[in-house]
Amino acid sequence: ATLSPAADVRADFPGMVTGDGAPWHYLDTAATAQKPQAVIDAMTRALGVDYATVHRGVYGRSAQMTLGYEAARRRVAEFIGAKGEDEVIFVRGATEAINLVAASWGMAQIGEGDRIVLSMLEHHSNIVPWQMVAERTGAQIDVCPLTEDGRIDLGALEAMMTPRTRLVALAHVSNVLGSVLDARAAADIAHSVGAKLLLDGCQAAPRMALDMAALGCDFYALSGHKLYGPTGIGVLWAREEILGAMPPWQGGGAMIDRVTFEKTTYAPPPQRFEAGTPIITEAIALHAAIDYVAALGPDRLLAHEAGLARQLRDELRALNSVTLFGPEESAGIVSFAIEGVHPHDLGTILDEENVAIRAGHHCAQPLMDHLGVPATARASFGLYSDENDIAALLRGIERTQRIFG
Ligand code: PMP
Repeated sequence: ATLSPAADVRADFPGMVTGDGAPWHYLDTAATAQKPQAVIDAMTRALGVDYATVHRGVYGRSAQMTLGYEAARRRVAEFIGAKGEDEVIFVRGATEAINLVAASWGMAQIGEGDRIVLSMLEHHSNIVPWQMVAERTGAQIDVCPLTEDGRIDLGALEAMMTPRTRLVALAHVSNVLGSVLDARAAADIAHSVGAKLLLDGCQAAPRMALDMAALGCDFYALSGHKLYGPTGIGVLWAREEILGAMPPWQGGGAMIDRVTFEKTTYAPPPQRFEAGTPIITEAIALHAAIDYVAALGPDRLLAHEAGLARQLRDELRALNSVTLFGPEESAGIVSFAIEGVHPHDLGTILDEENVAIRAGHHCAQPLMDHLGVPATARASFGLYSDENDIAALLRGIERTQRIFG
C-alpha cells in the first residue's frame, strides 16, 4: 500500500490554505511547489541574522556564510549522487542550466552538419537553446517521436542515431504527460554513437531518488522551486571531466584565476561557471528543501503521486466527454481535455472552488501540435496532495460540465 505523506505534511506548508484559511486544492506543483516552513525559516535566517557575502570576506559572518553556501553544494551533490561537489554548479534554474550547456559545451563541441536530438515532448527551455546553437553553428535538430501513449520512443531514438549526433537532450519526466524516461536506456543509445545525454530533470528531481551514476547521463538540469525550495536557484550537474574541458560562458568576478588586461585565466569548476556574487540565500534555502524531501524519502513521493495520478485518471475516465493524454503510469502529472470546454474556462470555474490547475500549452507547443490541441488542462500533484484534492477537482469538473450543458 502507498504510504500517504500528505496527511502528516500538509501543516508544514503555510501556502496550502486560501486567504480565508480554507483548504486550497493546489494542483499546480509541476509549475512550482509550495514551500515547507523549514525552507521559509532557512531563507529568513540567511537574509537576516546570518546575512553576508561569501568567498571574499575576512570577517566571521562572511566565513560562516561561505561554509553555508558550500554545504548547500555538498548537500545537492549527495542528494543527486554526484561524484563530488565540484560537479554541482548553482544557476538560476533549469532554464539557465540548459542555456549554460548550450552556450559553453554546445558552442565548443557542436559544428556544421552535427546533429542534436530532442523529443516531441520537450519543454521550450530544452528546445530553444538548442535551436540557437543550431542556428549559429549550422547543426541540425532531429525530433524523436513519441509512443502512442505519450512516452519518448526509445526504439525510434535508437534508429535516429548517426555518427554526427553530438547530443541527445530529453526530459526525464514530461511536465505535460508525466511520462518517465528510461534514462539508462537513453544514455546507452546516445553513448553508442559517442553522443552526450542531457536530462531535463525539472519534474523528476522532486519525485524520484536520483543517482547520476546509475542514470548514466552526462548533464542534468533541475530547478529549486519545483523541489520545494525558492525560485532563483537551480542546479547544473555535469561529469567532472566534461566540466573541466568546458569554456566559461559568463565573465566577471569569482570565476577567474588571474586577470590582467593582456590575458585572463579562469578558475576551475564549479567557480568557472558562477560569475558574480553567487545565489547565496537561495542555495542555503534549497539545502533546507532537500533535507525536507530527503527525510520523507524521494521514492515514497513517487509512489504517492503516481498513485494519486492513477486514481485521478480512473475517475476522469468514468466521466463523459473527457479525453486523457499521456501514459497510464504517470509520475503525478495528468493532462486532460473536456469536450466543449476550453481549459482556461475550466481553470477559472475551478478557481471559484479553491482548486488550482494549469491550463495552457505548458511551454510545450510542439507537443500540443502533436496532440492536436491548442491547450490542455493539467493537474499535477505534490507531496502534500491527497484524495480530497481529487474530490474537489471532480466536483468542480462536474459543475463546469453542468454550466456548459
Ligand atoms: N523543463 C521542464 C520539464 C519544466 O517543467 C520546466 C518548468 N516548467 C522547465 C524545464 C523550466 O524550468 P525553470 O522555469 O524553473 O527554469
